[in-house]
This record gives sequence, structure tokens and C-alpha cells, in this order.
Amino acid sequence: MEGVGRAVTTPEFEGITFHEVLCKSALNRLPESSAMPFSWTINPYRGCTHACTYCFARSSHEYLEFDAGGDFDTQIVVKTNLVSVLKKELRRASWRGDPVALGTNTDPYQRAEGRYRLMPGVIGALAGAGSPISILTKGTLLRRDLPLLATAATTVPVQLSVSLALLDTDLQASLEPGAPKPSARLELIRSIAEAGFDCHVMVAPVVPYLTDDAASLRGLFAAIAEAGAATASVQALNLTGRYRGWYLSWLAEHHPALVRRYRQLYGSTGRVSAEYRNHLRSRVAPLLEEHGLTRLEDPYAEPPPRPARRVDGAVAPDLQAALF
Ligand code: SF4
Repeated sequence: MEGVGRAVTTPEFEGITFHEVLCKSALNRLPESSAMPFSWTINPYRGCTHACTYCFARSSHEYLEFDAGGDFDTQIVVKTNLVSVLKKELRRASWRGDPVALGTNTDPYQRAEGRYRLMPGVIGALAGAGSPISILTKGTLLRRDLPLLATAATTVPVQLSVSLALLDTDLQASLEPGAPKPSARLELIRSIAEAGFDCHVMVAPVVPYLTDDAASLRGLFAAIAEAGAATASVQALNLTGRYRGWYLSWLAEHHPALVRRYRQLYGSTGRVSAEYRNHLRSRVAPLLEEHGLTRLEDPYAEPPPRPARRVDGAVAPDLQAALF
């Protein structure tokens, strides 16, 4: 890999190797055709110790000559000079204070962040440059930065989203072996709400035949609402990339009886059928409604006066698009 400084292993991170690299750029521009509400993303890390079996970012690890399976979970690339490069990019006269998203590829609050502490510098730099910040994470480490994010939110909009799609602890440990437990993420949602933010929850991915039964979804939305989430969106599992093979291996090992049903459900497209989407929608829409998690405001409407530190309440268009 270009720019590799050193490979680091430490007793606190058993089985994990950090590949410290010097990046040339910090901000990634999305293609013009992107439907996302932001044009720029930042990825402090590549690979993710949360190790979700269904992670779509797995495929991108192959560009680094790692594999998309175990290497994605254990060979973590760290952009150690990220903050200084970012500050330089934000100082350019051409920077217009565009919104920037983190957590769109790998998780910025994965365990590595406890060691490298890149996020405080990123948040400070973006807020200083007048750029709205959006963060999606499963990582409870975000709690560490809540005071800083609250300060940032006095000058720029800050949107915080937590990814949580199931409560079953055994299934979660098997599906997302390195990620914080559901109870820990519910506590994170609570902390975010108590810090004054409208916390969004991405119920994604809903895993067909494993997390989509009526009782599980009912319990999940009740817990999310009770924890203080403001809004939620839902997305079924897609299997459109090369990570499909990794997920299907996991399925074959742990739930072999489902393999055939998955073949039928996903066909050659890697997307769930329209029939399944409609089925999920009819199951979830009343739950969103019942728990008041659907407060979708027109993002183009004149915003009502709000405390400066709160996100403006609108669910970002990407999250709206993710709804079913
Ligand atoms: S937390 Fe997100 S980035 Fe990390 S492995 Fe899971 S899905 Fe992938």
C-alpha cells in the first residue's frame, strides 16, 4: 500500500494489526449522480473491527490487497495524518462549507478510535470551517465526543445516527461479533438524546427471516423509542456486492436451512423482492407511527427556531431513501 508507515500490534488489541498510513487527501467527493444530501465524506479508517458479516464495505478492502473476510475485521488502515490534511483542505478558498458525512463506509467510532483519537480533530476542523456534520455509528465511543459535538452544534448543524437493527444478543454476537451489544447502543441513543440532539436510528439491515418477525420488530421499536430516539428509518439487507459471498458463508454455517430461501428472495439482483419490501413496510410503518419515530420534515422548509445545538430534525434524504 502506498504511504504505509508501520504496522502496529498491541496487547490491548489482540489479533488486530493497525496499518498506519499517511493519506494524501481527507475529503472524498461523491459522484454528481449521488442522491445523498452531502457531497463529501471522510473515512478515518479502512476495515472495521465491528466485523459485521453483512458489511458492504468489505469489498473495498480488496483494493488494499487484503481479503474482504477476516482481513477486513483485523487489518485496520489508520490515516494518522488525517486531521492535518483535512485542515489544509478546508482552508482552501474553494471550500464552501458543504456538509460532510462520516460513517458512510466504515465506522469512525470503531475500537481503533480509542487509540488514535482522530474524531475530535475532525469535528473541530469541520465546525471551524462551517461545514454541517453527519455521523452514523454503532460505536459507543461516540459518547466521549458528545461535549465536543454539542459545542460544534452551536455553529453548524450536527446529525447523529446510531445503527441498531436487533435486540437478540446471541444473534447480534454472531452477526456483528465486534460491535457493541444492543443494550449498549440503546444507552448510546439515550446519551445522545440527553445531550440535546435529535438522535436518528437506522434500523439496518433488517435481516430476512432472522430479525424481521413481528415480535422482534415490535420490541425493537419500543426499545428505540424508550431510549429517546427522535426518528428511525428501515432498510432490508441488500447483497449486491462481493461481500454477498462472505454473508452467505455465514448463513450456510449458522442457518443452513435458510440458504435456499435466500436464493429465492434475492435472485440474481442481490436485492430483496418488491413483495418482501411491501411485507416489511406493512409490518414496520405502524410501529414507526405508534412510537412517533416518523417525524420527517420537509428539508427545504423554513426551519422553525430551535436550540442551536439540536439537529434541525429533518431526516436526511439519504435516510429517507433508506426507508424501505
Ligand atoms: S459497523 Fe458498519 S462499517 Fe463496521 S463492520 Fe459493521 S457495517 Fe461495516
